[in-house]
Amino acid sequence: MPCPPLATPALLLDLDRFERNLARMAAHAHAAGVALRPHAKTHKCAEIARAQIAAGAVGLCCAKLGEAEALADAGLDGLLVTSPQVTPDAFARLIALSARAAGTRAVCDDPRIAKAMGAAAQAARAELAVLVDLDVGQGRSGCASVEDALALARRIAATPGLRLEGIQAYAGHAMHITGSAARRAELERVARRVAGLRDALTAIGLAPGIVTGGGTGSFGIDAGLGVFTELQVGSYVFMDREYDDIWTEAGESAPFEPALTLLATVTSANHPSHCTIDAGCKALATDAGLPRVIAGAPAGTRYAFFGDEQGRLIYPEGITRALAPGDRVVLQPAHCDPTVNLHDTLHAVRGGALAASWPITARGRCR
Ligand code: PLP
Ligand code: MN
Repeated sequence: MPCPPLATPALLLDLDRFERNLARMAAHAHAAGVALRPHAKTHKCAEIARAQIAAGAVGLCCAKLGEAEALADAGLDGLLVTSPQVTPDAFARLIALSARAAGTRAVCDDPRIAKAMGAAAQAARAELAVLVDLDVGQGRSGCASVEDALALARRIAATPGLRLEGIQAYAGHAMHITGSAARRAELERVARRVAGLRDALTAIGLAPGIVTGGGTGSFGIDAGLGVFTELQVGSYVFMDREYDDIWTEAGESAPFEPALTLLATVTSANHPSHCTIDAGCKALATDAGLPRVIAGAPAGTRYAFFGDEQGRLIYPEGITRALAPGDRVVLQPAHCDPTVNLHDTLHAVRGGALAASWPITARGRCR
């Protein structure tokens, strides 16, 4: 197996696959007439953000202010912070970010926060661009009803210091529904809710310029629903085992290729049925279960966590002593976003050779 001579565990990005994923999503959005503002929470990497912009994205989404600040430091703009910001300190940082990165936007789901954010902006002689956040089923953030969202939007539009720019409606609860038909049914319900808010806003002269939502599990459906002006897809650049499963378990083929892998090394192999590798839960996020072993070991080899620093590779029935210390194996992480956040560097590889090593710009920037 050709692989670069890196200290492991090392995060690898297969450039050919990554470029095909970028191009596929860009072509899909273009054909459907929707824009892309990909979510940078997945990669936290300025180089990847620049590649997404080069492929036609209108900006980036960021989960946290710190993530947005790190990308702004790297020269990126068009940053939508998708989590509500609720403290005076955060308002001050949003105002500063808006002043240096064109197209900075925030979301809001509470009239008390709209009031406080508007007052902070006004005091700073600034104007913050705000999307009203509508909960469409996840219950994590967003107004609980279309009526609440409509009232809040009116409030934002009437608040000096704030500028209403549209709607955010992210259906996080629907992303990992297995099988396209089941996902479509839920997303059509979501779309009716979003369209209800859009039409009500339009009727009172507050037509939303931006209606943003969607993710990797729903992009193919969202783009055709006629409500979103842009998609905030994240994981498609890398794909992970968890996302692969929603297509493959339904007998469908996944629309994107696994481009993010973890290179690991066998460190001990004194048992017939398993060996130990140098990648445990400090190298692989555990929230979505187990990574898949995709190269360097017999087909059917399974990974199991073996503490924080190590992993166990269990050989398939009938195979013994397959690997030796120093052998390299490649894993597909179960969930890419939190796995990336465990690493400082992403190694870009083409044809098994190292092409570049990119810093994970916003690693750990969760505040
Ligand atoms: N938008 C928001 C608000 C998110 O939290 C996420 C990911 O969790 C995304 C978009 C991107 O979703 P995905 O990684 O499924 O493409
Ligand atoms: Mn994720």
